[in-house]
Amino acid sequence: MNHAQLTALGRALRLLGEHGEALTADTPDARLHEVKADLRRALDLLEESVGAGAPATRCPEHPQGPVDESAPDLCLLCETRRRAARRSEFQGSRPQAVEPVATAPSRYGVRADRPQPQQRWLPEAWNGHEWQLCGTPRRDRREAEAYLAAQRRGSRPAMAYRLVHEFTDYEVLRIWGTPVQVDIEPMGNL
Ligand SMILES: [Zn+2]
Repeated sequence: MNHAQLTALGRALRLLGEHGEALTADTPDARLHEVKADLRRALDLLEESVGAGAPATRCPEHPQGPVDESAPDLCLLCETRRRAARRSEFQGSRPQAVEPVATAPSRYGVRADRPQPQQRWLPEAWNGHEWQLCGTPRRDRREAEAYLAAQRRGSRPAMAYRLVHEFTDYEVLRIWGTPVQVDIEPMGNL
């Protein structure tokens, strides 16, 4: 609800209150028709102000999105993204040296082939005391910036927003065996 809508709706509702105060058994029909018209007007204003329907999820990014009952925020889109992130984190922690000697291309690919799952952009808002996450962490910086821009244009923007870049590098924990550089013979050259 923007400021103009708030003002108009407030005025319309207060007017209805006045009608209620003034209502008696002697109130003429003409007056009742006036009340009816004012009531309709208030209802129209209220419908405009409410905008889209009630949110289906608790996700600030996809309030009208598809629902996943098992997700903490009920958001299927974000839950799908979180599952994918958990999967790539698991694969990212897999020690490469455990794989048998690569005589054929590994079905897991090499690390550089995969996107970097650990890089995220976190939209944060100042709540008056501290910075807090105000939306889903994004894989794409421009998407995160667009989200924050939309938040700032919203009806009740926070005092301040910031974009935090989260990046966790890969760390080799342990190596089994000795990774010697080997020239792999082309398969047809027997
Ligand atoms: Zn979502």
